[in-house]
Formats: sequence, structure tokens, C-alpha cells
Amino acid sequence: MTGNAIPTVRLPGGETIPRLGQGTWRMAEKPSLRKAESEALRAGIDLGMTLIDTAEMYGDGAAEQLVAEAIRVRRDEVFLVSKVLPQNSSRAGTIAACERSLKRLGTDRIDLYLLHWRGMPALEDTLAAFTALVGAGKIRHWGVSNFDIDDMEELAGIPGGDAVATNQVLYNLTRRGIEYDLLPWSRRRHLPVMAYSPIEQGRMLNHTALAAIAGKHGATQAQVALAWLLRQDDIIVIPKASSRQHVEENRAALDLVLTADDLAALDRAFPPPTKRRPLEML
Ligand code: NAP
Repeated sequence: MTGNAIPTVRLPGGETIPRLGQGTWRMAEKPSLRKAESEALRAGIDLGMTLIDTAEMYGDGAAEQLVAEAIRVRRDEVFLVSKVLPQNSSRAGTIAACERSLKRLGTDRIDLYLLHWRGMPALEDTLAAFTALVGAGKIRHWGVSNFDIDDMEELAGIPGGDAVATNQVLYNLTRRGIEYDLLPWSRRRHLPVMAYSPIEQGRMLNHTALAAIAGKHGATQAQVALAWLLRQDDIIVIPKASSRQHVEENRAALDLVLTADDLAALDRAFPPPTKRRPLEML
């Protein structure tokens, strides 16, 4: 079905991880869909999309349990990402939240543990907890999510803050604000960005410009949206798909090479930012 291997990106610590993974928000909310969702995640792993993104927030822990089910006999194949909620992100709260996530995930370690978004607890405290969790082998890397440039600057100013492995943010054709400042800021520091909601939760899939390019390549609109992100070699992309068909389609987006004309047409339909905008989040 697809000729290309999954491309990888290097984390600041040197480890390489796949640039196309799988999201899990809104999974495990309906018992009738659970089997298909678990199968979809496993199909994605079979296809090399071994980075799985989840969070304690998703389904109030149920998404982590679904991931546990999907990876039970193949934990070592997977690069597991989970997140602590801001309200739990005090020093002791982060450690306790991580322990709960590990239990639900049925594993002894999370590969990348993110602060889901900024909260009241001091960043220093969350960072101290992350560092302690790395020391205890309970997480392998840590990072942040929904951090705008001022948050990243603040983090960079804290001792140890430069160990951040990624910033997971909203980024897709309809949400290009980070291209103005946050993305260049991250690139200067060789910090990979993880793009969430890469197809805008499906809302962008009725666009004439996307349809035209998809038609030209015999691809789908979702594939064009994903290929547009994947062409940038420091972006990690984590579409959520709850059917094997969507997973296979998303994997095959790696085979779609957009031409300069396609990219120009996409820039006309979804213009890049010309001034700073606050980071958007979903
Ligand atoms: P998304 O991946 O942009 O879109 C998911 C939606 O697109 C689902 O309805 C899915 O349908 C559909 N879809 C997937 N593949 C498709 C295809 N090939 N063709 C047509 N439709 C397709 O949105 P998202 O779930 O918000 O974002 C992805 C992941 O990022 C999340 O699951 C989560 O892990 C993470 N995230 C993080 C944050 C954060 O604050 N850090 C926020 C949002 C999301 P089916 O389910 O029916 O396949």
C-alpha cells in the first residue's frame, strides 16, 4: 500500500521517533466503538505509526486504558506519549498523576510526558517532578503542550528547562499562526513541534482548494492536509482515526508529494500569518 518508511525526527536528547503517529482524544467514550478503536490503533502500529498520543484527560482515563489494551503484547514497539492536567501539575500532583497514568496504561514507563497546558502551579515545580520521574525511570522524556512563545521563553529560563523534548500545539492548514513566531523560535533551538488536530477534527474536509488538489493526485482531502504538514521534516503529526480505513489512508499520506503549484494554491486558500497571533488551542 505504501512504499515510504515512516520518517523520523530527532529529539533534543538524540533519540529518533516517528513523525506520523496516532491521537486518541474522543476515543473510549462509546463502548460500541471500543473494539474498532483498539483495532485501528493496532493497525496503525502495524503500519509503523508507533507513536501514540494520549492523556489522563481523554475519557477521564478511559483512553489510556484503551491504549493499554491495544499495546498489551507489544509495548516495546510503541513510543507512548501522555499528559498531566494543569490542575495536577504541582510537584507531588504530577508524580501522583503519572503513577495513575502508568497504572491505566499497564506499563512501567511513559516515553514522553507532557504538561497539557499552563496552569496555576509554578513551572519550576512541574519541572522538578518531571526530573524526578525521569530519574526514577517512570518517564523517559518530558515536554509541554499549548505553550506559546512567552511560556517557552519562561521555560527556557528555568534550570533544566532546555531538556524539553517537544511542544505539542494546534497546527494545521487552517491554524497557521505558529509559523509567524513559535515555529521559527522552536526551529532555532532544534525543538521538534508536535502538530495536534492536523485535519482540524474533520472540519476542514469540505474545502474546494483541498478537494481540487486531492482530485489531481487521486488522494483524499485528509491526505492533502496531512501531507502538507508531513513535508516539514521537524513536525510530528498525530491524526486520530478510529477505523482501519482512516488509519491506512493517513499512513498513505506519506506517499503524497505536493508540488510547488499545490503549495502555492494552499497558501492562497489558507494564507500564512503576516503578524503575530496568540497561540490557538482546542
Ligand atoms: P484530528 O486528528 O485533526 O481529527 C480527528 C477526526 O478526523 C476524527 O473525527 C476522525 O474520524 C477524522 N479522520 C481521521 N482520519 C481521517 C481520514 N483519513 N479521513 C476523514 N476523516 C478522518 O483531531 P484531534 O483528534 O483533535 O487531534 C489529533 C490528536 O491530537 C488527538 O486525538 C489528541 O491525541 C491530540 N490533541 C491534543 C491536544 C492538546 O491540547 N495537547 C488537543 C487536541 C488534540 P474517525 O475517528 O471516525 O476516524
